[in-house]
Amino acid sequence: DPVLVWFRQDLRLSDQAALAAAMREGPVIPVYILDDAAPGEWKIGAAQRWWLHHSLESLAKDLEDRGSRLILRRGNSAEELERLAKETGACAVHALSHLEPWWRNAERAVARRLPLHLHDGALLLPPECLKTGGGTPYRIFTPFARAVMEHMPPAKPMPAPKRIDGPAKWPPSERLSGWGLLPAQPDWANGFAKEWTPGEAGAAKRLRDFDDEVSGYDPARNLPSCEGTSRLSPHLHFGEISPAEIWHRVSGKGEGAAVFLKELIWRDYAHVQIWVMPEYGSKNARGTFDNMPWRDLREAKGDFAAWKLGRTGYPIVDAGMRQLWATGWMHNRVRMIAASFLIKHLLIDWRHGARWFWDTLVDADYANNSVNWQWVAGSGVDANIFSRIMAPLVQSPKFEAADYIRQWVPELAQLDDKVIHDPDAYDARPRDYPAKRVGHRQGRERALAAYRHVKR
Ligand code: FAD
Repeated sequence: DPVLVWFRQDLRLSDQAALAAAMREGPVIPVYILDDAAPGEWKIGAAQRWWLHHSLESLAKDLEDRGSRLILRRGNSAEELERLAKETGACAVHALSHLEPWWRNAERAVARRLPLHLHDGALLLPPECLKTGGGTPYRIFTPFARAVMEHMPPAKPMPAPKRIDGPAKWPPSERLSGWGLLPAQPDWANGFAKEWTPGEAGAAKRLRDFDDEVSGYDPARNLPSCEGTSRLSPHLHFGEISPAEIWHRVSGKGEGAAVFLKELIWRDYAHVQIWVMPEYGSKNARGTFDNMPWRDLREAKGDFAAWKLGRTGYPIVDAGMRQLWATGWMHNRVRMIAASFLIKHLLIDWRHGARWFWDTLVDADYANNSVNWQWVAGSGVDANIFSRIMAPLVQSPKFEAADYIRQWVPELAQLDDKVIHDPDAYDARPRDYPAKRVGHRQGRERALAAYRHVKR
């Protein structure tokens, strides 16, 4: 009997434990189901729909090259898998396990209807493997990272199969072009294709290119003007490459590689946190933050819109927000600065910022996004202290962001290195660049006053 392989955020053929196990059992039917109901408010955002379209196209082609096919369906995951099993006589489903709360629910629903075999491989380590001395999952990063290191390296990645046998008769598939994943006019995603090649081959190429640069990762990773980071995040989110593959490729290549792999461990850490607390994306991990008097979004509407558009009057923040809009990605240092600015200088609830990122990032990831927003807000389990307020006008020269600002804020491109971080301070602000929405000191004082409600 044939076996179903249920692809989700693991759109690859190499190091794909579900595919490998299914192939040992019988002819394989690879399936992708677009399930927009299961995630509820966390259904895939607009930028990621663009990515998903191209990634599925690439996966379908890779399967066809191996004598197989990708069957596309839309609807409730469990119902669709059951329907496919009836249509094809398939006797089991294989899948990688995923920790997003909606995927865990969907897995339970599938398992009630069909024999479901879940496999590891989305993370460096399955979360059950790591417990503190007290027998609970780790909530603090540093001891977590130390514990992960004791289990490294992960198992050697498996190569992609050369041929994948399918059933005698294939079930019908929907057409990808009918799913409307690509933006209608105006095509706001036309800058994406210059930056990204979704799919397994694109991911492998990113890793090869980055491999040559990894020794310089630290300190280059902190400088938004350099391409000092891997840009593997959307590929990792969609599982076009396994973290184990990255580990084996990079480890042992000096101090830069060690710092980089620690970032990869942050990804595992964030996933453990949503596993422990599935509402991490919508609830303060520290309950005392429920007392924070955030500004009402109706009153703060103009400020929120200026932040989204990259028109806050703070060049480094605006450059980041415009990079996000144009490419679906933002440099990590700038994500921290832009998020901190929204939360503290504008006193807008982190959840509004996290939602905007959800819709605009090609790497939007429930675990990484929620945990990092709460880290910046100070409301996370292991988080920055709220009262340590980042000063964007200090961060910008410190991390040499002048060229980055020139690239993304063309109104400021003529300003020299000294002036560009804060043109107001030198009376050099061009007329088409907005004044600051709020002064640094004023924003800082308002934030600290609000924070007193949390400490009380
Ligand atoms: P590299 O520096 O090359 O790192 C390699 C990989 O390690 C990344 O691809 C990522 O998978 C992982 N990683 C790196 N930093 C972190 C981190 N702080 N937390 C968790 N994993 C990390 N990352 C996402 O993948 N999706 C998100 O939705 C997301 N939202 C964020 C929101 C905010 C407010 C902040 C401050 C950070 C967010 N990050 C998110 C984390 C980080 O900014 C990105 O992972 C990183 O910028 C991706 O670029 P890269 O692949 O070049 O990173």
